Amino acid sequence: MFKGILIEGSRGDQQVSLKSIDEAQLPEGDVTVDVAYSTLNYKDALAITGRAPIAKTYPMVPGIDLAGVVTESSNPDFKAGDEVVLNGWGVGEKHWGGLAQKARLSGDWLIPLQAPFTARQAMAIGTAGYTAMLCVIALEKHGVKPESGDILVTGATGGVGSVAVAILAKLGYSVTAVTGRKEEEAYLKSLGAKQIMDRAELSEPGKPLARETWAGAIDVAGGQVLANVCAGMKYQGVVAACGLAAGMDFPSTVAPFILRGVTLCGIDSVMAPKADRLYAWKRLAEDLSPELLDSMITEVAFDDAIDAASHLMDGKIRGRIVIPVAG
Ligand code: NDP
Repeated sequence: MFKGILIEGSRGDQQVSLKSIDEAQLPEGDVTVDVAYSTLNYKDALAITGRAPIAKTYPMVPGIDLAGVVTESSNPDFKAGDEVVLNGWGVGEKHWGGLAQKARLSGDWLIPLQAPFTARQAMAIGTAGYTAMLCVIALEKHGVKPESGDILVTGATGGVGSVAVAILAKLGYSVTAVTGRKEEEAYLKSLGAKQIMDRAELSEPGKPLARETWAGAIDVAGGQVLANVCAGMKYQGVVAACGLAAGMDFPSTVAPFILRGVTLCGIDSVMAPKADRLYAWKRLAEDLSPELLDSMITEVAFDDAIDAASHLMDGKIRGRIVIPVAG
């Protein structure tokens, strides 16, 4: 038996609890992992609170991320004792996830724990941090350089936002951090933000084109915020869009794209190819300061993880949550 969070019931009528689960119930897979740490991402909080239909089948163990040690493997790439990390691939949505002491998975989804990170640090990064890195790589690929001008990061006190601010600042970019939490100004400056901007300035409908301000942007908000971000980009600016914290809609016009040559890059971490993941994790090891990563962490006991999901949805969590699930 092992401990795990279980979402039971059905869509619209789900019950979530920390349960003792029989190992015989684990899903199919060629690698079994003793999970050491997991985390809570925005998507996990949606799944646990039931605010969006993330769990595609019931019962479901949530958790789109895990870090742990292989105990059994018939996959040629992994053997017992290997330290591994999993991000996404529909785990925690369609396949039992990381918020349990054991997981059985396809070895094709796993990557080795990236040195020098510990399992705890890997989960402090988690999907949020790895997505932040994918966004930074997208800006780079499209030619945005520190000398190109200011970079905007929305949802800056959240998981993706905090890691994005820290990486960009370390790479020498001048970062404007957008937040609804003015009281976190000192935190954002400690991560390296040069300017702080009130989220309210981007939340209301604006003009199709605003003053040319940003050379690049990483947006976790979507909705009206993303529309205003696109409208305020410099000529040939680049926006990496990864989230929907403000909404799924996109009330923009084509003006930024056809009159300023703005590029809008969509970022998906869930199905990203393995080579992209390995490169992103290698870059995280190079470009994210471990001290700043530590300053982003709130550690939550496994017994308190369900409550923490509501706190995350209510915007009460800063940075990243890590959850020790072992033992
Ligand atoms: P967090 O909850 O940690 O952070 C979200 C942040 O968004 C909040 O902290 C808040 O920051 C800001 N925010 C909240 N509500 C609004 C609003 N109405 N308008 C503007 N900003 C708002 O979540 P994550 O960082 O883990 O994820 C952020 C988004 O990115 C989510 O939508 C998530 O689904 C998405 N995502 C997508 C991935 C992909 O593969 N495409 C992977 C990972 C995440 P502040 O208080 O500072 O304003």
